[in-house]
Amino acid sequence: MVDQHELLKIEHLARKYSEVNIPLYLSYPTSNFWENLVDEEMFVNTHRNYCAPFIYFHFPYCEKACYYCMCYKSVASDPRHNDVYITYLEKEFLNTLGRLGHDALNQVRHIHWGGGTPTYLTCDQIEKIHQKIFGKIKLVDHRAASKSIEAYPDEKILTNEKLKLLFDLGFNEISLGIQDFDERIQKTINRNCGRENVFRIVSNAKALGFRVHVDLCYGLPFQGQNELEKTIREVLRMDPDRVALFTYAHYPNIFPLQRKIPSSSIPNSFIRVLLAMLAEEMFSDHGFRKVGYDHYVKANDPLCKAAEKKQVIRDFMGYSVHEKREFMGFGNAAISYLGDGFYHNIQSLKKYYKAVDDNRIPLEKNLSHMLTREDRIRNKVIQKSILSDFNVHKEDIAKEFAISFDDHFRFELKDLIQLENDGLVDMRDPHMIRVTRAGEYFVRHIAHVFDNYYNRRESLN
Ligand code: SF4
Repeated sequence: MVDQHELLKIEHLARKYSEVNIPLYLSYPTSNFWENLVDEEMFVNTHRNYCAPFIYFHFPYCEKACYYCMCYKSVASDPRHNDVYITYLEKEFLNTLGRLGHDALNQVRHIHWGGGTPTYLTCDQIEKIHQKIFGKIKLVDHRAASKSIEAYPDEKILTNEKLKLLFDLGFNEISLGIQDFDERIQKTINRNCGRENVFRIVSNAKALGFRVHVDLCYGLPFQGQNELEKTIREVLRMDPDRVALFTYAHYPNIFPLQRKIPSSSIPNSFIRVLLAMLAEEMFSDHGFRKVGYDHYVKANDPLCKAAEKKQVIRDFMGYSVHEKREFMGFGNAAISYLGDGFYHNIQSLKKYYKAVDDNRIPLEKNLSHMLTREDRIRNKVIQKSILSDFNVHKEDIAKEFAISFDDHFRFELKDLIQLENDGLVDMRDPHMIRVTRAGEYFVRHIAHVFDNYYNRRESLN
């Protein structure tokens, strides 16, 4: 419980450090700054015979569009639309393997299906993908390998038969997008996931042996503490293995469907911080451990153990156990992160199909990025030290990259003084920058200070 004085302080900070326009830092640099043009030949030459440990498949189709959504998706009233898509996915997959060499998929530890709504695929389609694609992927260790899938929790789409099929095909982790159970909120964002329906899905998935992850969202239209508290109570009754609490970003100028959400219904920055604090209190009271700034996990979760050893890192999947998780993505709009390169596949289905028909690796021309040395230094500070560990060991960074931390980041250290005065960071130890408890709720602001694409600074060594 926070007292009146604390509340006033939080309100002041929330108004000053609103999270609007501050990236989630799923990558650094963020994709709007990917700028180095990498052509297909460079991609193939750089990654020939490269072993990707993690493979991502993108399935774009959803039955309907949720108004808050920022994912790459296409609406299809009939799942048969996936038939054509699967044919192209297979063709892309075989062509890429042919060009990179079949060893590229010899050491796979994790396969993930995302979207869109991969569970919108029919059972026949799922089996077909499995036969045509998965036979060619060699998992390093079947028992330790993880196969995960994102799901829209609606029993009409995610039937028990489909759940069982997925489990029989080796999927062992399912992420259910609940967001918030409140009916008014769901109606406003065009979703319909009833509590009882989700309860049954969770209990069936657990009975089969799935690890169940739940995605919640704060900052949604008409969402206040009562709504989020009720949703979290229901989620706690379901006893998931992991919860990701994402923040809703309202950018109606970029995402036209968000114009259907009244801007006046979006909670202000102060309420958003209170929602994040409420979630933390409730999950901590029920034995969950906070990982990074938006994940809650149980003690036996690999992410929890890794967080204790400071071995997690912010990435495209939220947080992952590895220092750096490289992956190869297939499908329209899929992203790959290989070596020092980020690559984005073509988003438009029509253009993606054309590129695959031409036997090309369907890379989007202006959406790739080769990390520079400077990017790698800042990537480490932003995604690892600040957003994952909540502190920066200056000497570790200095040693790894052969720099003098205080010289290299002299402008940033100057900018941080204001955040220190506001109690968000503690820099009294000359070897460390610590994120304070209050600073955890504004941690993206702290990371943002080190973002050299947003804050172009004159000189760097
Ligand atoms: S189901 Fe998921 S991907 Fe599809 S529109 Fe809704 S939030 Fe977006």
